[in-house]
Amino acid sequence: MTLDDRAASAAFIAALEAGDLEGVRRAPKAESHTHGPFGGDRAWLAARTGRDIVPVATPLVSMDEMHAWTATHVGDLFKGPEGRRLGWEGAFVRARRDGLTRVEFGDDVWMITQGVGDAPALYAGISAAQAAVAPEIVWVPQLGLSRHCKRSWLWRWITPFLEAGGWEALDLSGDELIQPIEVFQPLYRECKTRGMRLKAHVGEWGTADDVWKAVESLELDDVQHGIAAADSPAVMRFLADHAITLNVCPTSNLLLGRVARLEDHPIRALFDAGVRVTINSDDALVFGVGVSEEFLALHQAGVFSAEELDQIRRWSLTPAE
Ligand SMILES: [Zn+2]
Repeated sequence: MTLDDRAASAAFIAALEAGDLEGVRRAPKAESHTHGPFGGDRAWLAARTGRDIVPVATPLVSMDEMHAWTATHVGDLFKGPEGRRLGWEGAFVRARRDGLTRVEFGDDVWMITQGVGDAPALYAGISAAQAAVAPEIVWVPQLGLSRHCKRSWLWRWITPFLEAGGWEALDLSGDELIQPIEVFQPLYRECKTRGMRLKAHVGEWGTADDVWKAVESLELDDVQHGIAAADSPAVMRFLADHAITLNVCPTSNLLLGRVARLEDHPIRALFDAGVRVTINSDDALVFGVGVSEEFLALHQAGVFSAEELDQIRRWSLTPAE
């Protein structure tokens, strides 16, 4: 560690122990699990649009309830080219306020059917938002696939993005139980040949075996959530042995009813089993917390010591090879 790194660690640990949110925000950190406009800054969006998006306060019971919540509270705010631009800018405002030095996100390939521009225009739009709001933050451009879509559609939509280039990561999200993971294998193979970092949402609603199967079949570098792995010592050992990173979102897990109490969050068991974890916000606008609040809450709930949280923070800054 350099002297600067040591000073950042000391300041972060002191801020956690003092319950100083601003101090936690000032520490360099990276986020690998956030969904663009849904990770936006509530106060900034309210000032810009007059709409205050009040976050979810009590646990929702299903993804259907989550979709209904989104339709009521967010509605058409991020639709159309102007809405998209607003969403991206809000995401970079929150990233900056949260002290992120690197953030991985992007758009779903399906967006090219939504009248917000072609593949190069979508890349240019996010890039322009970053340049306007947070040029000091490293943006890792990420493509998204929705799990319910037919593979033939996904091929058609992703092709212009891959041809235009510039995308460095791939993620799969949506209803985890709707299609077998193998459906996506050819798409992941193609992105692997292009040197992209491979991620997928799995083990949030599914099982430990689903996590193992997805990592094997898609050759994942990172798992989004993956908390069900904590049910299986064998799967945790497999993740640790292969240096797979789990990008965990504790508040999202609480508010979607995946975990009953923060004190019992499986991130502790994963960490103890040697699994590399990072701490993320998922949808900061929906769940009402950024990465800094997540760190502070885990410390205050006694899940991790400040030193352990600093280790996790430093992991986020140096992705496993
Ligand atoms: Zn997510």
